[in-house]
Amino acid sequence: MSTFIGPYLSCKGLFKLETNKIINTCSNPECFISKENLRCFEQNLFCHLCGSKLEDRSITENKQLNAQELLLGEDNFDDRLACVIGEYSNSDELFFITKKKYAEDCFFHSYEDNSVVEINNFNKEYIDNQKRLFKLIYKEEIDYLIQHLGIENVLVKWGLVNW
Ligand SMILES: [Zn+2]
Repeated sequence: MSTFIGPYLSCKGLFKLETNKIINTCSNPECFISKENLRCFEQNLFCHLCGSKLEDRSITENKQLNAQELLLGEDNFDDRLACVIGEYSNSDELFFITKKKYAEDCFFHSYEDNSVVEINNFNKEYIDNQKRLFKLIYKEEIDYLIQHLGIENVLVKWGLVNW
């Protein structure tokens, strides 16, 4: 188990993405391949299920992307945030913390076993400062997530994270 004390990002919600694609599929409207918009090998001329001619068809694919998928899908981001809670759960809330190499000096990091942290040292001014710094360092990521998930679903918080 790891423990982290510091600023973290809480993200909820899904972004609906529609993409248009051309696929090679069966032209027979009664065929399963055609009904399900399944792709056939580009080299093939006829459906392997019903033998009908294949055709190019324009389809719209709908995907729902969570915060992590949004960040991973964007080439401009250098994978600077670690999704530590929610990645493999069904919860729609994901939690991200800074990766050590990007903010080593700014934030407290994972505490090992047998370590003690004096909480008195974290006053409001200190916490606000760390949140401000976090927002500054991850401005691009946060702006991008707000743009796709809504401002109410992307929050910088401060606290203890266990995972
Ligand atoms: Zn077919």
